[in-house]
Amino acid sequence: MKLVSVVLVLALWNGVALAQDNAAFDSVANRIVYDMQSEVNDVKALDRNVSKHKQSIGDNRLWKDINYSDQSMALWSPALHLERVQDFALAFTNTHSSYFNSSELYGLITNQLRAWNEKNPICRNWWYNEINCPQILGQVILLLNSLKPLPATLQDSLQAKMLRGNMYKQTGANKLDVALHYLYSAVLTKNPLLMDTAVAQCFIPVTLTNRGEGLQYDYAYLQHGPQLAIASYGTTFLVGEYKVASYVRSTRWQLPEEKRKALAKFFNEVYLKATRGKYFDFSVLGRGFSRKGIGNLNTIVDMHSKMNLLQNSGFVNAGDVESYNDVVKRIAGTEPASYHVNPLHSQFFSGDYTLHARKEYLFTVRTNSVRTRRTETGNSENLLGRYMSDGATNIQRSGGEYFNIYPIWEYDKIPGITCRDYATDRPAIENWGQPGTTSFTGGVSDSLYGVNTYELDFDSVKARKAWFFFDKEIVCLGAGIQANTGENITTTINQCWSRDEIQKGDNESYWHDSIGYFLPEGGSAIFTNDEQKGTWYKINHSQPKDTVKGKVFKLWIDHGKQPKNAGYAYMVVPGLSKNAFMDLSPFKQVTIVSNTSSLQAVEHRKLKILQVVFYSAGTVTSGNTTLSVDKPCVVMLKNTGSKKPELCISDPTQKLADVKLTLNGKTMNCPLPQNEFAGATARFR
Ligand code: CA
Repeated sequence: MKLVSVVLVLALWNGVALAQDNAAFDSVANRIVYDMQSEVNDVKALDRNVSKHKQSIGDNRLWKDINYSDQSMALWSPALHLERVQDFALAFTNTHSSYFNSSELYGLITNQLRAWNEKNPICRNWWYNEINCPQILGQVILLLNSLKPLPATLQDSLQAKMLRGNMYKQTGANKLDVALHYLYSAVLTKNPLLMDTAVAQCFIPVTLTNRGEGLQYDYAYLQHGPQLAIASYGTTFLVGEYKVASYVRSTRWQLPEEKRKALAKFFNEVYLKATRGKYFDFSVLGRGFSRKGIGNLNTIVDMHSKMNLLQNSGFVNAGDVESYNDVVKRIAGTEPASYHVNPLHSQFFSGDYTLHARKEYLFTVRTNSVRTRRTETGNSENLLGRYMSDGATNIQRSGGEYFNIYPIWEYDKIPGITCRDYATDRPAIENWGQPGTTSFTGGVSDSLYGVNTYELDFDSVKARKAWFFFDKEIVCLGAGIQANTGENITTTINQCWSRDEIQKGDNESYWHDSIGYFLPEGGSAIFTNDEQKGTWYKINHSQPKDTVKGKVFKLWIDHGKQPKNAGYAYMVVPGLSKNAFMDLSPFKQVTIVSNTSSLQAVEHRKLKILQVVFYSAGTVTSGNTTLSVDKPCVVMLKNTGSKKPELCISDPTQKLADVKLTLNGKTMNCPLPQNEFAGATARFR
């Protein structure tokens, strides 16, 4: 009797669980369909597309203008077949479409899907076979199921073709993308076990990883090895995770709270911060910066509806939505680029990236090390940007300073880099992100101010580069520059769209587009303000071949041929009117204390901040402050001259356990963060 009741209770419980799962599956399916339809911004345009593509189907049910034997790795022609069927399915199930519930269109959809099923095109690029095609197939079947399902045999056969790709094997955004179409499969077959697995795999990328692919302990996002990908694969990751989270909200598959927080932190504190006005920093776009039109923030605007969806479900903190809405206003241009921009300094010790924001500007530095990879070339994209991570500085005020400049850039004069000045830009040699070669790269941050360093040893050029960040000023130093090659070695201060006149100030100072550039006494720079030409094809073979041109402002320092121990120093002051520029003598407040290959140091007397890069054990003296360390490290001393100084210290090599530091005769031992936090800033008072 007892056993019978246990069995009965279990059976009942299973029955209840099943009914709940069934309801949840229906609810998830509805949300996916709703999400797809909410992305149709213009139903008339969709209908026009459908009308156009209806006309060009051949007798064999294949489209006449699609090359079904195309061997391309990117922009693979047969993918258009499924994209068009997807448009058909969207129109067929959209109540506002003139094709809503059209039996003619339904006939075409089944015909075209039969043709795909028989032809079964396979691409040389796995992404199409294992992500793009299965995802679109799943979306089409889900759309049709909301109104008039496909004939069962056809649907079964297509669902079998969806089961491509190994979600366990993939990492980061790619894992999410493969798991997403398994989630579609689980919903279509109402398979709870597959759903458990697919959702779990979808959410695995929302886990902090120590330089694996995905979200890092410093909240940078890396993909294709340890390579910075905040707004390239990071966008896929973010949009995908928020989508899945919204699909399964309030079900037993809901995104766990700690993962929700991690996602919100990446979105609000990193992703949205790497923007200015309606444009991203070019350094967070990966190889994608070489695509025409990329770098504006339509993606974020597209996410607006999703964020509202999440907000309505109580999924997102009210404060997050507020800061997000500020970004949307900056993108839309209803508020200026400076609107509600709070001061911020972030040092990404896992990503090798520094972000410094003020109301007036965004200034970032992209570097690399033995722990990370350079900006990748791949699929014939980014063919020239081999120096994109050699200390590239992105200086944005309005935001559009570099938008679409990339086909006409001189690629050995990327802003911020020290490089051989070739007569013709040199192509990248290695695909998918060349590993960095040096280890002394990193810096300190107290979340407002900071200093970072990059040890350059690439393409037969060596240099020690460092950046010192304050409120109005950024000081850029280089030392120990050496090369034995035939070309002149140059350090580029900026290369951006020419906006207006260039004003030359006293000594070596220049003003252009509301930014002042100042060299200390004895320095010298060269500038041009001329038209440059190029093609998008030159930097990306999937892009147009027509010549584009524009006027470019370029400012650089020439170190001559075969420098033995050259250096440079310049200060950037963004947000200056011409008059303010003419009146400014910035080196009165900011002192370059040292710029040698063993010690680089800058003191801001007004802010009472001393920033130091020790390339070896040593001592620095500035004013009344004397600071010594027993090992190489980066130090920021705040409240100099006071009785309560504050110290920030980090180890760019990420190997030290501690540093012994002596400040004005007083010695202290500074233990440093270890393991996944190695390279992070330790703070002492
Ligand atoms: Ca050149």
